[in-house]
Amino acid sequence: MEDSQFDVIIVGAGVMGSATAYNAAKRGLRTLLLEQYDFLHHCGSSHGESRTIRVSYIQKHYYRLVMESYNLWRELEAQVGYQVYFKAQHFDMGSSHDPTIRSLVDYCQTHAIPFQLLRRGQVAEKFGGRIDIPEDWVGISNEYGGIIKPTKAVAMFQTLAYKNGAFLVDNAKVVDIKKNKECGGVEVVTASGKRFRGKKCVVTVGAWAQRLVKTVSGVELPIVPLEAHVCYWRIKEGQEGKFAIGTGFPTFASFGDTYIYGTPTLEFPGLIKVGVHGGKQCNPDKRSWGPAVMMEELKKWVEERLSGMVVSSEPVIKQSCMYSMTPDEDFVIDFLGGEFGKDVVIGGGFSGHGFKMAPVIGRILAELAADGEAKGVDLKYFRIGRFRVTSKI
Ligand SMILES: Cc1cc2nc3c(=O)[nH]c(=O)nc-3n(C[C@H](O)[C@H](O)[C@H](O)COP(=O)(O)OP(=O)(O)OC[C@H]3O[C@@H](n4cnc5c(N)ncnc54)[C@H](O)[C@@H]3O)c2cc1C
Repeated sequence: MEDSQFDVIIVGAGVMGSATAYNAAKRGLRTLLLEQYDFLHHCGSSHGESRTIRVSYIQKHYYRLVMESYNLWRELEAQVGYQVYFKAQHFDMGSSHDPTIRSLVDYCQTHAIPFQLLRRGQVAEKFGGRIDIPEDWVGISNEYGGIIKPTKAVAMFQTLAYKNGAFLVDNAKVVDIKKNKECGGVEVVTASGKRFRGKKCVVTVGAWAQRLVKTVSGVELPIVPLEAHVCYWRIKEGQEGKFAIGTGFPTFASFGDTYIYGTPTLEFPGLIKVGVHGGKQCNPDKRSWGPAVMMEELKKWVEERLSGMVVSSEPVIKQSCMYSMTPDEDFVIDFLGGEFGKDVVIGGGFSGHGFKMAPVIGRILAELAADGEAKGVDLKYFRIGRFRVTSKI
């Protein structure tokens, strides 16, 4: 790295920063990716064994992003030579009176996604008795589900970024990003005093976004760090094979007062992942690593919805992770503006559901940095301006 001048400097090497670095390097840009901890650490949002990919959303603007991502995950796997996406069906469930369920039906119809709307008996039949919903609930099944392997996917993006010529540096905490008034662009400063010059900078620092963006610009983004948990439950003896991926058991989401989600068995034989969407507000540098939220609801759900085939007294593994939550749960993908204009791009607030779309978000962030605009996406849903942000610039 004899010359510390780059076309684009990306701060934060979770899945979004790593995907951006790959996309920028692939375009031939001189690219630098900086990470505060060791690569593939477990202190952010992108580590672990599984993330759900599903096309069913209430907000219609995610459809194109998810569909493009399905194709891109396949293309990326072909380049790297190993599998990160595992196919499954997807199943949403909830009370037939729940507006979310009606929105999901409407979403499938709008986008011509083939789906089945199932009552209790039909659900039992479809899934061979493995899922049991109450009489007044319905389920919506479609073919677009699946699991992405997160740590493996981040490693894949970093490998492909490196192969395309990107410079990757870990244990390099960025403490400031300044406008370079002499040469244009920005200067990125690390805690050890290193300075890197970039024509553009992309900030993808996950749960640290609010803090870093405020330090750099005074803008206070409403991106709240939450400590969340992934829970794994033991399947009762003799039933293990029934929940394995590839047996027709789906990735799933359950709506109601608590949003519960899960995936078929893949990463830990004999265990199934079932968790609650959400968590407790935290300081990303001083985590409590405390107990999971809404545990009693979760235990009840596991007992009742999985037909008594899973031990519901306690999960056998709890993995802590962080959400970076926005008030509307939509992402933040925008230029920072102010004195930085289009030189600094923010990719954050992925609100516990962004991983599946990382390939396309990486493309969008790299295009915003390189071209000042991105193809195939309406950024109005993701603009900073939709919030009432406080700012000194
Ligand atoms: C429990 C859980 C379950 C989830 N389930 C799903 C799911 O099923 N499907 C789905 O699509 N999504 C899911 N998500 C969401 C998804 O994992 C996140 O949206 C995604 O990982 C966010 O990635 P990121 O790159 O923005 O953040 P991170 O992975 O946290 O990356 C940010 C990086 O920036 C680094 N950084 C921070 N500050 C600095 C600095 N000053 N200098 C240098 N580096 C810095 C951090 O160390 C970190 O490595 C889930 C998330 C959690 C926590």
